[in-house]
Amino acid sequence: NTTPLAGRPSDGLTPGLGLYSDPIINLDHGDPTIFKPYWMRSRDQLVVSGSELMSYFSRGGHPCWFMEPDFEKSVKRLHGLVGNAVSEGRYLVVGTGSSQLYLASLYALCSPDQPHPVSVVCAAPYYSSYAEATTFLKSSLFKWEGDANAFDKDGPYIELVTSPNNPDGTTRNPVVDRGGNLIHDLAYYWPHYTPITYCADHDIMLFTLSKCTGHAGTRIGWAIVKNEQVAGRMVKYLELSSIGVSKESQLRAARILGAVCNEIEAPPGPNLKFFDFAKLLLSERWGKLRQAVKRSGLFTVSEFPLAYCLFFREYTGSHPGFVWMTCKDKNLDCSGLLREQRILTRDGRRFGSDASCSRVSMMSKDEEFDVFLERLAKVKPPEKSNA
Ligand code: PMP
Repeated sequence: NTTPLAGRPSDGLTPGLGLYSDPIINLDHGDPTIFKPYWMRSRDQLVVSGSELMSYFSRGGHPCWFMEPDFEKSVKRLHGLVGNAVSEGRYLVVGTGSSQLYLASLYALCSPDQPHPVSVVCAAPYYSSYAEATTFLKSSLFKWEGDANAFDKDGPYIELVTSPNNPDGTTRNPVVDRGGNLIHDLAYYWPHYTPITYCADHDIMLFTLSKCTGHAGTRIGWAIVKNEQVAGRMVKYLELSSIGVSKESQLRAARILGAVCNEIEAPPGPNLKFFDFAKLLLSERWGKLRQAVKRSGLFTVSEFPLAYCLFFREYTGSHPGFVWMTCKDKNLDCSGLLREQRILTRDGRRFGSDASCSRVSMMSKDEEFDVFLERLAKVKPPEKSNA
């Protein structure tokens, strides 16, 4: 990617290549700015004085000694109210985003004494950052082995189960099934994206504030872990890599999650509560997108079954944070076609798939989403050459 925007998160209608009247729309990243209108309603402020939160420590004697008690309380309260994951009686580990906790989980599940690196796999299409994060330090503890469906090596392995999946929004289960360790990345297992059909209780479950409430910039994630030793090794990783996690961020997250919880518990008022608001917004976008895709005739996008959502107490659909667009003509380059209309998306090859697919963020600002739909209508297949 050689555009001036490469590697930079979308910051709205960012002018690209100097053409201010026809800006590039960057839907490559999953920057969840979609929820900002909801949070603009909130007047709650976190004020931290110069003398507060100065210590590295939050509390002695706790396995995760840098975790703020209010943060832990809010996370457990929210899981209890939403019913998406068991958190009582489990170890909670806070991280700088769930990205840090992903690496902490790998570290925790591998032993320095093992003769060979442990294989790390995930069924394709998989979240592109797994491959990148697993390989960038060339660790001798673990090795990225790609698509879990094609994995046939002997020896220990770790399988990532992302459900709902990034990029394609599908609900997933492990595929290898040979007794390896599992990491469940449940970043999108919240009722605005997908029906809550069961209370998850896996060995390691990763969540992130980024995708739950949209506060990606706060850089807070959490892991719910069953095994004490595994949780302890994850804490060790955080100690070694960053000596804990920003306390300001933890307190901000605690306040935000606490506000969502208060609303859930309150009787209905004049304004939509967070998950209702977010679900409505996403489902409206999905409706518009499906119409645009149908009109264009060039692409297909996934269909999702309705399921009974234990949180909303009704049948609901899925409205993933990304759309996995696939060209009907498998010879076409999906990202390339969209790039011609100045829409940046992430090439299917980055997810272990092929160039006929591309991941497009559904979580951008309204203005960007509207421009995306307008431009989608203009996408044309390449002219066939007679030469
Ligand atoms: N897991 C999945 C499936 C994601 O989509 C993301 C963000 N795109 C992350 C983890 C990382 O989230 P963060 O580091 O912002 O917490």
